[in-house]
Amino acid sequence: MHFFAYKNKRFYAEGVSIEKIAKEVGTPVYVYSKKTLLRHYKAFSSAFSAVPHLVCYSVKANSNLAILKTFAGQGSGFDIVSGGELFRALKAGADARKIVYSGVGKRSDEIEYAIKSNILMFNVESMEEMAVIDAIAGRLKKKAAIAIRVNPDVDPKTHPYISTGLKKNKFGIETEAAIRGYVYAKNNFKNVMPIGVDCHIGSQITEISPFVAALKKTRELVLTLKGLGIDVRYLDMGGGLGITYDKEIPPHPTRYGEAVIEGTKRLGVTLIFEPGRVMVGNAGALVTSVLYTKKSGAKNFIVVDAGMNDLARPSLYGSYHAIKPARENNAEEITADVVGPICESGDFLAKDRLVKDIEAGEVLAVMSAGAYGFSMSSNYNSRPRAAEVMVDGAGFYTIRKRETFKDLINGEVVAVPTKKRAKTVKR
Ligand SMILES: *Cc1c(COP(=O)(O)O)cnc(C)c1O
Repeated sequence: MHFFAYKNKRFYAEGVSIEKIAKEVGTPVYVYSKKTLLRHYKAFSSAFSAVPHLVCYSVKANSNLAILKTFAGQGSGFDIVSGGELFRALKAGADARKIVYSGVGKRSDEIEYAIKSNILMFNVESMEEMAVIDAIAGRLKKKAAIAIRVNPDVDPKTHPYISTGLKKNKFGIETEAAIRGYVYAKNNFKNVMPIGVDCHIGSQITEISPFVAALKKTRELVLTLKGLGIDVRYLDMGGGLGITYDKEIPPHPTRYGEAVIEGTKRLGVTLIFEPGRVMVGNAGALVTSVLYTKKSGAKNFIVVDAGMNDLARPSLYGSYHAIKPARENNAEEITADVVGPICESGDFLAKDRLVKDIEAGEVLAVMSAGAYGFSMSSNYNSRPRAAEVMVDGAGFYTIRKRETFKDLINGEVVAVPTKKRAKTVKR
């Protein structure tokens, strides 16, 4: 459920027409609906109200400060995967005690930053990482709380690039090895405190069964670990709940809640969830202008001013994003590729899509672009990254300025003194 809709043949985000935003801010621009963000947070959190739980919004889905602040204001915690995301979350006013830190490649400086910031726990993905955390915590004279990210070998039935809980994926530690890891940590690492079990099986999951299968395995693991004298207080189920891009009918958070509450009621743990896409995906659209239309053989092309550098998902995963014209019209329908200006054949937002015929200068909204949209965007082809706008009721405000040409070369150095250059070459 989101607050984008047609009113009198004009497409609106809440009370503001998309055309008005395009006119005032320019295109391409990401447009988010605050009402939708709040609604999604509440729907997700209330689905688990029967059990102790903590929602840790997954920052990588959309890391704009204004969005993080919106969730922090609702009491949300955060799931981070880098020092940069920790910096953002703290800047947005996050409570460090509600931050969990995931990821297979945490660097020492990032680990130190997180320990000093007093985060809730590290989701550890290898025993080597655990040894590094132990050493750094010892040096800082602190205790670092940890969960091991277990790989439950469950098929999330989603795109292979976003499956993470299969044996062949790089994430987590297999269950048997994880048990040995907890015991080893308890006996050998003085500065880490195992307090949780973590798993995250993948993204854009549109069925309940993979979550139930993962829960069955992690629940068993919690019981085994408790039997071994390990004080497990948190069970982190990760993120992954899918959204509707096209015709998918993912389960409502309430159903997810119903499916896991019974199995965890008497487990004596606080559940942690790390939702990303389901919180922000349908709360955002990428608004773009048509630059040209052209025909090549039997093919129609609509060339727009947003490209794969702005929204990588279609190129990366072949994802479907609905495309809505800012003005509803009665033109005939054509089959067209909606493509960007980037010099790559993979630069498209839609392929062989049935759309109302459209002219240069018209504005389009690429829907469901709130998650993994701006956060995955780049400067490829030296294109300044898009502006971001938050709509709140009848008004809107810019939450990220459009980048300038000057921003593009920020930090670049042209001249290198000859002496220094000679040194670099020798090395
Ligand atoms: C990406 C990620 C998430 C969020 O996934 P969504 O599918 O967006 O909900 C949660 N946890 C971890 C560890 C992740 O890597």
